Amino acid sequence: MMDDHVRRIRSRFESAGYQIDEDEIRRRLNLLINEFKVPVNEAVRSVTNYFLKELDLSPDKLVAKRESPEVKISEIDEPGRWVTVRVKIVQLWESESENISQVGLAGDETGTIKFVIWRKSGKPSVEEGKSYVFSNVVTDSFMGRMQININKLSEIQEIEEDIQVASSQIEIVGALVAIQSNSGLITRCPECNRVLSKNICPEHGKVEGVYDLRIKGVVDNGESVFEVILNEENLKHLTGMDVESAKKMAEETLDRSSVLDYLKNLLFGRYLKISGARLGRYLLVNQVDFITSVDTEELEKLLEVV
Ligand SMILES: [Zn+2]
Repeated sequence: MMDDHVRRIRSRFESAGYQIDEDEIRRRLNLLINEFKVPVNEAVRSVTNYFLKELDLSPDKLVAKRESPEVKISEIDEPGRWVTVRVKIVQLWESESENISQVGLAGDETGTIKFVIWRKSGKPSVEEGKSYVFSNVVTDSFMGRMQININKLSEIQEIEEDIQVASSQIEIVGALVAIQSNSGLITRCPECNRVLSKNICPEHGKVEGVYDLRIKGVVDNGESVFEVILNEENLKHLTGMDVESAKKMAEETLDRSSVLDYLKNLLFGRYLKISGARLGRYLLVNQVDFITSVDTEELEKLLEVV
């Protein structure tokens, strides 16, 4: 039994990168347990603390290197596990809170999952389309969905490998039932691509924003709702408007919101046929078209297919 405790203590330090002397562990444990009759758990804790002090280590050094097995996203099914995943960043979303540095969707060949990089973690930014190893991340569940949290003890390492992300390609026909206010002519941080508010990036401070055009909205096909982002290319295809003409409109009206009003007029409530990759409630748009002069029968047929 003593040997088990000795080995456990030694291996905790070893996996954190430190060699400690087994005989010394045994001697101290023996003393505490057999001579001083200290309860085993307390003795183990006390000996561990002794070596932490000797090596001038903070306790979280040992926690950091705890077992964190590499898993596939489809295997993540319970909160509170420390895991390592190899993923590609599918999409970055706007951060929901000041405490969050980045949030988005990451995927591997088995599925996709929301990831949250906490500001306190102090990690460098990740980029859409790039692949990374996220090690020592914690699984969590939020509103019934799994996610992974990147904290101070986690590591993010970019890798060359281009990870293939599983997704189901679908085609839907539905109405654009909501358009979010952070749509239209927007500016992004030139460093990290985040959408700016008043030319301030939460990460990079005051920056010279880069203009972009997008609609963030919700499409309802009668069965499900999908969150979609129509990018400049999609919007140009649908409305003829691109970033340049949007900028011109904003300059002429001295009001950036005139662009959003214009796009809303053209798009809100309209039926769209969208093909793309479905990732949970998100639909990553490949192609989008108006459903225009179809007769009711054809529309019904399309809706049935979905
Ligand atoms: Zn930035």
